Amino acid sequence: MDYDTPVMELKGVGEKARGLFQKINISTVGELLSHYPRDYETFGEPTPVAEAKVGQVCAVYGAVAGTPSQKKVRNLTILNVNVKDQSGAMLLTFFNMPFLKKLLRPGGHYLFRGLVQSRGAAKLMEQPKLYSYDEYRERMGIMQPKYSLTKGLTNQAVQKAARQALERFEFPEEHYPEELIRRLGLMSCRDALWSVHFPADRDSLLRARKRLVFDEFFDFLLLLRRNRDFAASLPNNYPMVETADTVRFLERMPFGLTGAQKKVWQELREDMGSRRCMNRLIQGDVGSGKTIVAVLALLMCAANGYQGALMAPTEVLATQHFETVSEYTREYGLIFRPVLLVGSLSAKAKREACERIASGEANLIIGTHALIQDRVQYRNLALVVTDEQHRFGVRQREILAGKGKEPHVLVMSATPIPRTLAIILYGDLHVSVIDELPGGRLPIKNCVVNTSYRPKAYEFIAKEVAAGRQAYVICPQVEEGELEDVENVVDYAEKLRSALPAGVQVAYLHGKQRPADKNRIMEEFGAHNIDVLVSTTVIEVGINVPNATVMMVENAERFGLAQLHQLRGRVGRGEYQSYCIFVSAREQKETMERLQILNRSNDGFFIASQDLKLRGPGELFGIRQSGDFSFALGDIYTDAGTLQQAAEAVERILEEDYDLSLEKHRLLKEHVSKPSPRSVDFRTI
Ligand code: ADP
Ligand code: MG
Repeated sequence: MDYDTPVMELKGVGEKARGLFQKINISTVGELLSHYPRDYETFGEPTPVAEAKVGQVCAVYGAVAGTPSQKKVRNLTILNVNVKDQSGAMLLTFFNMPFLKKLLRPGGHYLFRGLVQSRGAAKLMEQPKLYSYDEYRERMGIMQPKYSLTKGLTNQAVQKAARQALERFEFPEEHYPEELIRRLGLMSCRDALWSVHFPADRDSLLRARKRLVFDEFFDFLLLLRRNRDFAASLPNNYPMVETADTVRFLERMPFGLTGAQKKVWQELREDMGSRRCMNRLIQGDVGSGKTIVAVLALLMCAANGYQGALMAPTEVLATQHFETVSEYTREYGLIFRPVLLVGSLSAKAKREACERIASGEANLIIGTHALIQDRVQYRNLALVVTDEQHRFGVRQREILAGKGKEPHVLVMSATPIPRTLAIILYGDLHVSVIDELPGGRLPIKNCVVNTSYRPKAYEFIAKEVAAGRQAYVICPQVEEGELEDVENVVDYAEKLRSALPAGVQVAYLHGKQRPADKNRIMEEFGAHNIDVLVSTTVIEVGINVPNATVMMVENAERFGLAQLHQLRGRVGRGEYQSYCIFVSAREQKETMERLQILNRSNDGFFIASQDLKLRGPGELFGIRQSGDFSFALGDIYTDAGTLQQAAEAVERILEEDYDLSLEKHRLLKEHVSKPSPRSVDFRTI
């Protein structure tokens, strides 16, 4: 077996399992092995009911007291079971698992494991896992991998498949030079893959992770280095001069640019008029006003008779940019002839858009990565701006080069990173920083609360809505996969609807909706036809609705602080006082302290680095700090040290042997020419 072997060749993986695996983007053994656990759990000794602590995950062993009772509430079947041991009793609640009613015999002994919650003085568990005593004993003390799942696919099934794949896999020979392995004390790839799925202990897990993260960074940086050398050699194919269009636009705009925006705009003008092709990154915290600067560059581009493109990671964001630009165009009589190109357009609309692009009739093209697909032919594309998350690399350049000459590239990012990291990660770009927020903004008021505060939070939202404002509620992420995120968001929206006064318009948004539906909902929210939007973190990226003043985040403890900071950036974008409510289901002191950092600072980078300090490098899984780089495991904050090492390793090797032609680099060269599925998703670089 190798990376490309279909998962179907594993014993026990049939047609049905194949379909389920495919849903989580696994069709080969390589993809299965790089489907790393998202967490691990170790089962401890069962706890007597009386000693089970609220807010902690516990296992209790007890007898079912009385007959389980069942009721239906809307589309939920709720099963209540009392369980008793010598020390006390506890209520268990199961959702949509009616078969348990028969399975759980009154008087029978079972082991239940779950999060202990309180209702008044009583303790309860919702949706605990059920084990026989022996089953549980077998697992005690061993680190169990927990995988991301999809409905119908159990954790058990993924574990079994992964174990079998590891057993039958023919691991490739080590591709790094021996000296590198020794100097950095890297684990072999074989051991690393075994240990990341089935760690013997914490130590080997950490070493495994280090090796895998190193691989990701190394592959990425090698590619980046080549990109840099290539980009630096490009001439300016589209020289531009400033025209009256941008000057007039700036004069008519309701607000003046901040000092930082002015400085960056100056840099862009210089770049686009210079002898070399522009390769620039604008880094600016959420709400710092990056969009307007990009619009100015695109306007200069159009005024010089060229086409420009603005590319966003999601359709929702692309659509919003299109609306913003269309409004500017109408309001200020700009020379833009914008066109939107996203996947969810009808075939006919797409064809028409493509025609307008090919003929040059459209001079500003806004969309998702659909923009660089083969069949889009540009007339004279001179500038590509990518907003949030999308990097722009050799691959895309190659595609575009086939359609004309290399355009100027501008990348915008809100990921707060310090300069040293930026130089490593964006080594191929010049960096501009917008380090100033537009004036007149009221600082966001934050609070960190526990779940009992919910009714008050809903009251507060109702009050803001009554005052004409809007709110976001970010829904709890689902832990095990027995209920999918989707159902969760839908249920939550339903609950919220009944908790808020009649007439408040509540809608929901999640990743699995059709793009066209998502766009519609975002548009409606933007147009204030929706008051409260319940959403998963799909909302995290870039959305701008200045009338929204409340951001309520459920299960805030499960997010990285940097991510919470991004979420917070969705409010406080207008003239109104805005509020953030972080709801934590864990009341442990450390969790609350961690979240309190958000109260004390608005500086994204400071927040991310504090988070790291507080959590300690032990807690490396589960929480992701940054969505900006599509590494599977590596996190630019958590693994800054490894990133540095990988950068140095790449430099050393290229310095000695730029073409990788030495014998000791033979396997590395092979590896580079065919990146393993474990490397970064090259499509997005
Ligand atoms: P981000 O940098 O997060 O992409 P946006 O570009 O979406 O931020 O800008 C956030 C909001 O700030 C928008 O409503 C925008 O119109 C507004 N804005 C941008 N620049 C200024 C400025 N100089 N003065 C006042 N408001 C501004
Ligand atoms: Mg933005």
